[in-house]
Amino acid sequence: MTGKPASDGPAKRLFIKTYGCQMNVYDSERMADVLRPLGYGVTDRPEDADLVVLNTCHIRERAAEKVYSELGRIKEMRQARTEAGGGRMGVVVAGCVAQAEGEEIMRRAPVVDLVVGPQAYHKLPELIARAARQTGERLAADFAPEDKFDALPERKASGVTAFLTVQEGCDKFCTFCVVPYTRGGEYSRPAEAIVEEARRLADQGVREVTLLGQNVNAYAGEGGLAGLVRRLARIEGLSRIRYTTSHPRDMDEALIRAHAEVEELMPYLHLPVQSGSDRILRAMNRDHTVASYLKLVERIRAARPDVAMSGDFIVGFPGESEKDFEDTLQLVRTVEHAAAFSFKYSRRPGTPASAMPGQVEEKVKEERLARLQAVLVEQQTGFNAAQVGKTLPVLFERKGRHDGQVVGRSPYLQGVHAHGPERLIGQIVPVKITGSSLNSLTGELAMVNA
Ligand code: SAM
Ligand code: SF4
Repeated sequence: MTGKPASDGPAKRLFIKTYGCQMNVYDSERMADVLRPLGYGVTDRPEDADLVVLNTCHIRERAAEKVYSELGRIKEMRQARTEAGGGRMGVVVAGCVAQAEGEEIMRRAPVVDLVVGPQAYHKLPELIARAARQTGERLAADFAPEDKFDALPERKASGVTAFLTVQEGCDKFCTFCVVPYTRGGEYSRPAEAIVEEARRLADQGVREVTLLGQNVNAYAGEGGLAGLVRRLARIEGLSRIRYTTSHPRDMDEALIRAHAEVEELMPYLHLPVQSGSDRILRAMNRDHTVASYLKLVERIRAARPDVAMSGDFIVGFPGESEKDFEDTLQLVRTVEHAAAFSFKYSRRPGTPASAMPGQVEEKVKEERLARLQAVLVEQQTGFNAAQVGKTLPVLFERKGRHDGQVVGRSPYLQGVHAHGPERLIGQIVPVKITGSSLNSLTGELAMVNA
């Protein structure tokens, strides 16, 4: 097939050979579309290609044999190219033959790097990025160096609370997100180094640590995140442990059990769901469904009934219909969030979603965001109001803006203001909650330690 190279001159060349029906011709065009953001422009000369895709068809007799003989020719081309000092040629088999005999192809034709069935074209950029990582290749994609969703809110260790990075990078490839491309693969710091750093922080008076990672619950150091939490909980002086951000896929039984058993692990969980529509979740490549997410929340609440749930939401993802959006509202109503972050879908150049059809109009996104936030604000206000009359243990962190005021946090991460002496900073003190607003609580000291 032929196609136009990207206007700014493609950094890499893509050759697609299409077999069979009209459907396959359409699919080949779609593959070229999703690969364009990664810097691939179409060529009709396979010998020049950095990536060769055979989009196969199973209908005709001996279709598979034809593919194998084509692969034999490609192997020779690849060899000639390597000998001439050209770059590596990637080889992908797609389409119905791929679907029918994926493993057999990899076995019989080692020249093939990837086999993708017709249901998985949206994963092509992900698969190619992974393959490139393995060979240490740099992707030509033009990603913005700075991304506002890219960084977690890092803060310097200040007084009684501190952030502690335990994991970086991401292997999930949500189709809207640049992190896997800009931050690279998942990497976990050794548990020993983290425990050592936490000990030093505790020695300096830190009482609470928040473990940080793009996918913190994918932590792969010794003992996983649950094991790490249990080790940190034993450190003298460290009274509170939190972690953020988690992916539903990596919320394992051990971590859920830790929420039931480790007193120092605070009952607050940021577990982004992004959407309440299975169709959209699939297009986002999230790897969880609404049902699996709800089941997970149920298990977490069974382990720790008072856990405050928080999350991230995206409205206006490509193809999101009014019905999909209403399903998101429904999920929010079912889960009841104590806090949440919500965003309008924003097109990030180089990500698969940016090339998807059905981009949603800005006006519609704004309207949906406002409707979603109205429900989230109502829930957060309600969650805060429900604390009034209760006595909560508050870790005081700093002086307040007013004289004689100290500010701290409840176990549920709510800010709490109270009148009290400065010496309470660094202590965990019972506070009777007397008032609430959207963003914080006020209270009175139930008793002051002498
Ligand atoms: N790794 C975490 C996760 O999967 O939940 C979050 C990391 S991401 C950097 C933070 C949040 O930004 C995401 O949960 C998502 O809601 C939002 N986000 C990322 N890319 C976005 C985009 N292109 N448009 C709108 N929101 C986006
Ligand atoms: Fe981005 Fe989080 Fe998805 Fe990774 S899991 S791709 S960081 S949104």
